[in-house]
Amino acid sequence: PARAAEIRSLIQDIPDYPHPPVVFRDIMPLLADGAALADVTDAFASLVEADGGVDVVAGMEARGFLLGAPLATRLGVGFVPLRKAGKLPPPVEREDYELEYGTASIELRRGTLQPGARVLVVDDVLATGGTAEAAARLVQRSGGTVVALAFLLELAALGGRARLGDHTVETLLRVG
Ligand code: 5GP
Repeated sequence: PARAAEIRSLIQDIPDYPHPPVVFRDIMPLLADGAALADVTDAFASLVEADGGVDVVAGMEARGFLLGAPLATRLGVGFVPLRKAGKLPPPVEREDYELEYGTASIELRRGTLQPGARVLVVDDVLATGGTAEAAARLVQRSGGTVVALAFLLELAALGGRARLGDHTVETLLRVG
């Protein structure tokens, strides 16, 4: 982003949340700042344009919605939500993935993506990469092509980028 240090300062590090020793990165102060949100949206748009453009933005529930929908508007394309299980009316495609404790599922309504659609997957934070990996599988299973996965913040020490294999991974900010 144009003002990376200022953007970084608007992501608040919250120690021991949701439990020790996790440091939670809270993006809400950034979302609340109009100039910062515009800057982040512009930076995502530049990356997507460099990757050859997309037909649609897909965002992970819930913070991926907050970054993905303004980006879709900026790019002049539509937005598709990748939702937590049980929120969408049937029929849906579903992907299960591992969490630190237990499993989770995400869903996409069948028929939402045009066959062959070029899709950008957006979320706020790339941590272990499990969520993003499931999102990429879900998009592909639904007939889309994943052009890239884009994140505001990469927690590099958790190795998510390696887990996403051959996918193009774009991150605006990175911490160790
Ligand atoms: P992963 O599946 O890569 O381990 O975790 C990424 C998912 O968990 C994303 O959907 C992201 O929103 C959420 N997440 C994990 N850690 C954090 C964090 O420190 N801050 C925020 N805002 N989200 C996080």
